Amino acid sequence: MKKQICIVGSGTAGLQLAYALKEDFEVTVFHANSSEKMRSGRIKSTQVHFGSTRTRENRFQMPKWDDHDPIKSIHVTIGDQKLFTGMLKEDALSVDQRFYFSQCTEDLKSKNVSFHEEKIEKGLLEALVKEYDLVIDCTGKSGPLFSFPIEEEFTPFRVPQRKCIVGYFLGIQPNHPLGVSVTVLPEIGEMFEIPAVTEQGPVTILFIMAVPDKELDLFKGIKDADEFTTKMKSTAKNYFPAIHERIDAQNFSLSDENAFLQVAIKPEIRKPFEMFNEKLVVGCGDSVFLNDPITGQGCNLASYCAEQLYETLIEFKHLKWDEKLGRSYWNRIKPHVKEVTEWTNAMTQPLPQHVIQTLLAGAEDQTKADQIAEWFADPQMAHEAFFEKSSI
Ligand SMILES: Cc1cc2nc3c(=O)[nH]c(=O)nc-3n(C[C@H](O)[C@H](O)[C@H](O)COP(=O)(O)OP(=O)(O)OC[C@H]3O[C@@H](n4cnc5c(N)ncnc54)[C@H](O)[C@@H]3O)c2cc1C
Repeated sequence: MKKQICIVGSGTAGLQLAYALKEDFEVTVFHANSSEKMRSGRIKSTQVHFGSTRTRENRFQMPKWDDHDPIKSIHVTIGDQKLFTGMLKEDALSVDQRFYFSQCTEDLKSKNVSFHEEKIEKGLLEALVKEYDLVIDCTGKSGPLFSFPIEEEFTPFRVPQRKCIVGYFLGIQPNHPLGVSVTVLPEIGEMFEIPAVTEQGPVTILFIMAVPDKELDLFKGIKDADEFTTKMKSTAKNYFPAIHERIDAQNFSLSDENAFLQVAIKPEIRKPFEMFNEKLVVGCGDSVFLNDPITGQGCNLASYCAEQLYETLIEFKHLKWDEKLGRSYWNRIKPHVKEVTEWTNAMTQPLPQHVIQTLLAGAEDQTKADQIAEWFADPQMAHEAFFEKSSI
């Protein structure tokens, strides 16, 4: 008989795990919202999936998306000085998670994965743990459900370092070559412009990361879509003129009434396993590895850890599932979690001089510019550039 696995949460980590595990195990997913509620609800993220994440999605035969206009580059500007456009080795893609999650859920249901629409409360954990061979906590930033211990070494902040202000817009002429534009305004925040795919077609995401209570923290208390749009337009005009120039005033609008979001994340890294009533439980994704979105790594890290958890479970398929399995999973992923986390935390602070010099060098040399673009696809390179002061 196949072992029974329960996944709580159907986001990036939970869905990829369901795809990966469904052939070797009996998989049941508990999700807080139906596909229909997800599709018609509020946007959740900006979700750029880089090459290695897309390779994993193909490996586990996840749905294919319209990628006629993939993300090919990273445009870097500091202040009002455009430094360079670095080309990515592999195309990236941002698919609206409302569309992505609901499509994956329906596809998995058709492939015999059981879905139960139920928000799991802590009181239910005992019964779940008893019923299944393994419970995987994929509850994202609202988690974790279990008390996985915080790894203090990787959790230096007590408060969020940025306010995330996101809207999906129509009426912006895309940048060229199509890519993510990163504009750093030292001491006050950043803007990320991201081309994305939604169920209704292409949009441009404008994603402001404002240092709390500094000049760019302009959206306090805004809950209304029209007010949000007006504020985004004036903010682009005053702080991001290169983006503002590409806005078509007549057609500039949110792509739908739920296409805006404000959130602030307090980064927190936890040990992703524990024994609960003498049985192993594990965590995957934001529930245990919650970083600030500033480096766009959350989905990519969730996908990486999902694949590594799958590999660990396959290795232990015919062995006992206990603390040893949990430790093996954590040992596999810890180096990568460390690289992503330390780089991301460093990006929320003033950039070190040697990193600024590296960015300036990218303006003079296309090979260096391409290597810097690759930081986002391969965070190990970014970690080296920040912490080993390697000259790229
Ligand atoms: C503003 C913003 C921008 C971002 N931009 C990027 C980016 O550009 N690139 C990138 O890689 N990452 C980005 N991220 C991070 C990325 O969205 C997350 O890291 C990623 O979605 C994490 O996947 P997950 O499966 O752990 O959690 P999620 O995708 O959040 O999924 C968790 C799921 O669990 C469900 N759930 C929660 N509690 C329960 C419960 N008790 N019972 C049942 N279900 C439950 C939720 O409803 C949800 O469906 C961004 C995040 C934010 C907030």
